[in-house]
This record gives sequence, C-alpha cells and structure tokens, in this order.
Amino acid sequence: MQITIALTKGRILKETLPLLAAAGLEPLEDIAQSRKLIFPTNQDNVRLLILRGSDVPTYVQHGAADLGVAGKDNLLEHDTSNIYEPLDLKIARCRLMTAGIKGAALPKGRIKVATKFVQSAKRYYAAQGRQADIIKLYGAMELAPLMDLADEIVDIVDTGNTLKANGLEAREHIAHISSRLIVNKASMKMKYGPINTLIERLRHVVCARETA
Ligand code: AMP
Repeated sequence: MQITIALTKGRILKETLPLLAAAGLEPLEDIAQSRKLIFPTNQDNVRLLILRGSDVPTYVQHGAADLGVAGKDNLLEHDTSNIYEPLDLKIARCRLMTAGIKGAALPKGRIKVATKFVQSAKRYYAAQGRQADIIKLYGAMELAPLMDLADEIVDIVDTGNTLKANGLEAREHIAHISSRLIVNKASMKMKYGPINTLIERLRHVVCARETA
C-alpha cells in the first residue's frame, strides 16, 4: 500500500526530517540539495512530496497525499473538512498576531488590514465586532502600514525582530502556530495500519522530545 507524505522545503522541512528519521523514515537522498519534487524513502511503500506550504493542506484535503506536515497558519486558511489533525509536532512554533505602527492609534470605525492570512483575519475582526476591510498580500506585510495601504497587519511573529526593524509593534494575539501532522480522512480508513503506525511512532518521538 503506497503512502504519500506532503512536506515543505525550508524551515519546516529542517525540523521535520529529524522527527521522521527518529520514527524510522528517511529520504534516500538529500532533499535540500535536489530540485526533484518526489522522493523515495528507506521504506519501499512510502514517498515524500515537496510542496509550497500553503499547498500541503490542499493535497491532503483532496487525497492526492495521504499525510502532510502543515503549519497551523496554513490550515486555518483552508477547507479542512476531509482532514484529521492527529498530532501537534510542536515545531516551527510562532504566533499569529495583529501589528501596526508603534504608538499609532487605530482609526475609529472601519479599518484596513493587510495580510496573507485572510480567513484568520476575517474571523478575528468579526469576533472582535470590528469592521475590517481585508487586503490580501503575498509577502512583506510590514510594508503595508508604512505605505498607508493598511492600518494594521495580521502576520506571523516569532522573535518580533522583523516588526521592530520596520517600526511596528505586535498588538493582539490571534493564535498559537506550530506544524501539525495531517491525514486525509479516507486514507486514514483505507490505509489504517501503516498510517496509524507512523502517527504513533511520531507521537512517541514528539513526547520524548518534550520531556527531554
Ligand atoms: P521574527 O522577526 O522572528 O518575529 O519572524 C517573523 C517572520 O519570520 C514572519 O514574518 C514570518 O514570515 C517568519 N516566520 C517566523 N516563524 C515562522 C514559522 N514558524 N513559520 C513560518 N514563518 C515564520
């Protein structure tokens, strides 16, 4: 039974590969050094796909990948009706926050908010009872308040250095973000044995790290 796992290059991959290795799963070549998108592993029936972070939930939602490792920030933006999220891998931790120009008060009434995280932003401002026009951006959100494109941004904050370097301040905390193991619901049923074994091995690895 073929098992396909969707991963992303970069920060999350660097932290995910040691977890998979500790659970007994290793790619046969160095993914970081390759331009390939599909990688066989030391387990004949398991292969890895390398995707854009925001595409991982899409592949798993449609069953094109059985499992994936996705940031909670991306999961919050997607239709996850066909996805289980059985395990918090507790890696790539950060916070989704609102931010704005340091010391600047928000205008009364409607505000403009620039973000890549449109769904999370909509839900957040609606829950606050705040009228917000959401402007979709794909990067460099910090620039938006400086150029008067937006009154606030919704962005990922780790150390806060990026905000500080641009004269911005973090304001409200929206969500804790970390990478999650996700599973297509139909795959979980049809390939229960191998998938459950992998989940339990990874759970063990994550727990062991937490208590180390
Ligand atoms: P920092 O300057 O440490 O607050 O990092 C902020 C920037 O790093 C954000 O704009 C994000 O693009 C990126 N970043 C930090 N942590 C993560 C993460 N866990 N996942 C994805 N992007 C992150």
